[in-house]
Amino acid sequence: MPSTVALLSIALMSCVMSAAVLGSLLRANVRGVARWCAAYGIFSVGIGLVLDKAHVPPWLGIAFAHGLFLLGSFAILQGAREFFGRNKATAPEYAAVVAVYIALLYFIYVRPNLDASVFVTSAYFAYIRAAVGWTALRYRPAHRPKYSYYFLGIAALVGALLHLARSIAYGFGWDHQTAFLDPSPLNIAFLGLGILSFPFMSIGMVMLAHDRLAERMERLATIDELTGSLVRRAFMERADAAVAASQASGTPLALAILDLDNFKAVNDRHGHAAGDCALVHFASTVLKSLRSGDLFGRLGGEEFAVLFPATREAEALQLMNGLRLAIAAHPCGQTPYTFSAGVDEFGPGDRLARVLARADAALYTAKALGRDCVVMASSHGESDEQVEQPG
Ligand code: GH3
Ligand code: MG
Ligand code: MG
Repeated sequence: MPSTVALLSIALMSCVMSAAVLGSLLRANVRGVARWCAAYGIFSVGIGLVLDKAHVPPWLGIAFAHGLFLLGSFAILQGAREFFGRNKATAPEYAAVVAVYIALLYFIYVRPNLDASVFVTSAYFAYIRAAVGWTALRYRPAHRPKYSYYFLGIAALVGALLHLARSIAYGFGWDHQTAFLDPSPLNIAFLGLGILSFPFMSIGMVMLAHDRLAERMERLATIDELTGSLVRRAFMERADAAVAASQASGTPLALAILDLDNFKAVNDRHGHAAGDCALVHFASTVLKSLRSGDLFGRLGGEEFAVLFPATREAEALQLMNGLRLAIAAHPCGQTPYTFSAGVDEFGPGDRLARVLARADAALYTAKALGRDCVVMASSHGESDEQVEQPG
């Protein structure tokens, strides 16, 4: 069996496996994966036709199969752009696929020239891989682990260089193909390495899809669906880390507990759905007023907490009052509401639970004082709270 045929048989198996693995991810509805899966299916059919040339007519085994390779590669690029939420392809790119295919048919049927056909198709494959690599590296989400994005990006860029080298080698006449799938040493080297880029790229795609799924799961576990704030557990974890950092660096740290006033009555008067809208309105107003680095979490029901790094309690009190005024100035449509808050600052060696308890006590005072106000639990266990009330 000529070595090119052996190489193509390996490529066929790897493409079928890639299609199967990507297919297993279809139900996850990750954008781009369906196209990637289809692409590997298309490659498999194309390689199968090339390999079975004893049974299929030449037009099917060569012209049609090469059309499938162009189409499959294009689908890989479209899938990558879809994954990153980009436009799938530009008009010149659609035109280029058609032009490359016409050029290929020309060099197969009109002026048969195998070297020219390798030059054109390898240049096309090099472009596709370069565009996939660039997309993976350029649009890599900054907050996600880099590994899978670099893996796909580098695999695609190395594939692009190989195809570029192949295109140049045949374009400049450094090697010649005398027959289709000619087992010349250079052709075998290029085919072998080019074929390796198939599984490398599909592994990269599977890694990206998994990263997207992990991101979804992490989001579900850390972000409260209704309000977009951190869920209690995630807030506590991050707050603990911020407390440790503040104590290590000696920078101040303030905490506020916020609770919507008479919210049971708000629900009773306007309905639970309107109550939900008020919670969404409240959270979005808080999120807009936070500074970068501030942590906002939902402790439960209509009770929230904000942690203010590098902030003294007096400043936190001001920020809370600014928030109170912002909500009064832009109320939630037909469901007006107010909130009360207790504010405190971490002292040396203070633990999160202790400061939460003191801020909670200050909140209790705010409720007792008639609500719609912010109370500062002045100092670490002392009871002389400072109060800011409306008016
Ligand atoms: P206070 O001013 O003392 O805090 O009075 P309150 O009525 O707000 O306090 P209470 O704890 O008695 O009631 C809290 C209410 O918040 C009861 C509950 O139905 C409502 N609530 C909690 N979570 C949600 C939610 O996700 N959506 C809606 N609509 N209401 C909620
Ligand atoms: Mg309440
Ligand atoms: Mg409450």
